[in-house]
Amino acid sequence: MNLKGKTALVTGSTSGIGLTVARSLAQRGANLIINGLGDAQEIETQRAAIEDDFRVRCSYSDADMTEPVQIRAMVEQAIESHGAVDILINNAGIQFVSPIDTFPEDRFNAIIAINLVSAFHTIKAALPGMKRKRWGRIINIASAHALVASPFKSAYVASKHGVAGLTKTVALEVATEGITVNAVCPGYVWTPLVERQIPDTMKSRNMTEQEVKEKVLLAAQPTRRFVTMDEVAGVCGYLVSESAASMTGAILSVDGGWTAQ
Ligand code: NAD
Repeated sequence: MNLKGKTALVTGSTSGIGLTVARSLAQRGANLIINGLGDAQEIETQRAAIEDDFRVRCSYSDADMTEPVQIRAMVEQAIESHGAVDILINNAGIQFVSPIDTFPEDRFNAIIAINLVSAFHTIKAALPGMKRKRWGRIINIASAHALVASPFKSAYVASKHGVAGLTKTVALEVATEGITVNAVCPGYVWTPLVERQIPDTMKSRNMTEQEVKEKVLLAAQPTRRFVTMDEVAGVCGYLVSESAASMTGAILSVDGGWTAQ
């Protein structure tokens, strides 16, 4: 579907899955608001590249997804400068791996805030505009961990199960208003988020890096390979299309068969 005239806000889109999803929406003509942390110069290079590569408008918000005031301001500014947020992709997320009895409280709270609570705030701020236009697409990037658990990931698994519940609830609330709300649940995708959890997993499980990849990460995935970022973006591309208008409240696995087991 051509997305010319639509505006998409993608949280956590300075890296990994979010950046790939944002670029794929821009490729189909959507104007963008990207968001996330990182080096200011690198982010500006990515933002300018989106405008140059796809001839769309792309702005950047540095809103911190742990700060409700900044989240609301990001959505309000997006609507003010772009006219609307038609497509909202809640993608920002972090991970921390530790047994629960030594899990640092600040890490637990940050994971719940960024992975779950930020989506409550973006949805709450973006919905009135979508309702006025009687069209909207909300996609929450959850995880296979929205459906099943793994040890040492209590905060992450709790946050992603929460995202699945939030998705279904909001889908029901707006079902007659032309707005769909779905969750996409990737298995392991090779991104900085996965790369960063290797050292802690090596420590928690007393394994080498190769053992973590083969016996922990890819052991869960029957395809025995990492899901690609393009495969996740492809599902998002379908969900924002008119063909997917009746797909709402769905929790969609893109996990190489992990949760079929
Ligand atoms: P990533 O680390 O490459 O990207 C995370 C993004 O979130 C970055 O842009 C980062 O700047 C942003 N972010 C982090 N904290 C933030 C904050 N406080 N405020 C604003 N932005 C913040 O990770 P990724 O693997 O691309 O993960 C993206 C999403 O996909 C996450 O929700 C993650 O849980 C989910 N996911 C990833 C995998 C995987 O295997 N990589 C699997 C399933 C689900």
